[in-house]
Amino acid sequence: MENNQPLEHVHLLIIGSGPAGYTAAIYAARANLKPVLYQGIQPGGQLTITTEVENYPGYPEGIQGPEMMVDFEKQANRMGADIRYGMASSVDFSSQPYKVTIDEDKVITADAVIIATGASAKWLNLPSEQRLNGSGVSACAVCDGFFFRNKEVAIVGAGDTAAEEALYLSKLCTTVHMFVRRHEMRASMVMQDRVLKTSNIIVYWNTETDEVLGDKKVHGVRIRNIQTQETKEIPVEAFFVAIGHQPNSGIFADYLELDEQGYIVTVPGSSKTKVEGVFACGDVQDKIYRQAVTAAGSGCMAALDAERYLSAKGLH
Ligand SMILES: Cc1cc2nc3c(=O)[nH]c(=O)nc-3n(C[C@H](O)[C@H](O)[C@H](O)COP(=O)(O)OP(=O)(O)OC[C@H]3O[C@@H](n4cnc5c(N)ncnc54)[C@H](O)[C@@H]3O)c2cc1C
Repeated sequence: MENNQPLEHVHLLIIGSGPAGYTAAIYAARANLKPVLYQGIQPGGQLTITTEVENYPGYPEGIQGPEMMVDFEKQANRMGADIRYGMASSVDFSSQPYKVTIDEDKVITADAVIIATGASAKWLNLPSEQRLNGSGVSACAVCDGFFFRNKEVAIVGAGDTAAEEALYLSKLCTTVHMFVRRHEMRASMVMQDRVLKTSNIIVYWNTETDEVLGDKKVHGVRIRNIQTQETKEIPVEAFFVAIGHQPNSGIFADYLELDEQGYIVTVPGSSKTKVEGVFACGDVQDKIYRQAVTAAGSGCMAALDAERYLSAKGLH
């Protein structure tokens, strides 16, 4: 696209405004790196689509996800981070300073870049699933399982994460109904074995979800056996979707190393990517923990790594 706008040069550009991006901004601003942060289409990140967050330290009474992310933004703002609405639409990391195009229009050059673009949960895309999201439908058992302790719940998925989440839920909930689309799971044999040996997990093979049932909150699920077309309603109070996540890493694929699922590969124990001066933090590089507190922790690491990099280069 033809672009007549003058280039803007920034010291440190942060892409993404979830817990990782805002924490990186807080640390970077306090280190006088004058960070500019672009929020993307979901200012505040994934926590803005949830209700109560009870496991983030420092909020003894729990807090609503959207409210917590406003606190993060306010803190980054107060430290002097320049927070802007806009989406990084493409990047060029082939030479320094690095180029990042915002909204397919404005080109910014940066001495260092922190990528904090997160990941998005995959959904079944049933209207009822979307309508009841946050009211019993969740894509995170570790985050929301606690709200359904001693209740009956359902989970859909067949990979290692689904198996792990079903096992996690089995320790909190009375019964876990697990729906698997095929006649076998994709999870490793060890995980499958553990699931099948857990007495309060009931596995339904060849099973699809027709509908999540409930008006204001989940009270059941209607499933269908793919082979017999027989349907059945099961009363549950929560419906967990564990069919995978999509890391938001597509625009970086030409320059950075991604793993087979699209997560950005970082040097273990750091936020460094294979391009010097480009750092990644939060869920876009973490397929294991995927929590706000771990994302925030890795945002801190990225800011410290960027600060050291810029100092060593004599740019700070
Ligand atoms: C329903 C739900 C409930 C959850 N509950 C909890 C909980 O109770 N406790 C907990 O610890 N964790 C919870 N999590 C997980 C937690 O939300 C994530 O681990 C955390 O938000 C990851 O932070 P992040 O900063 O890496 O990315 P995200 O929060 O995913 O934020 C990514 C950011 O990047 C931006 N972005 C993406 N692409 C671009 C681009 N091209 N240009 C600019 N910006 C871009 C987005 O707009 C967004 O601001 C929950 C997740 C979900 C989905």
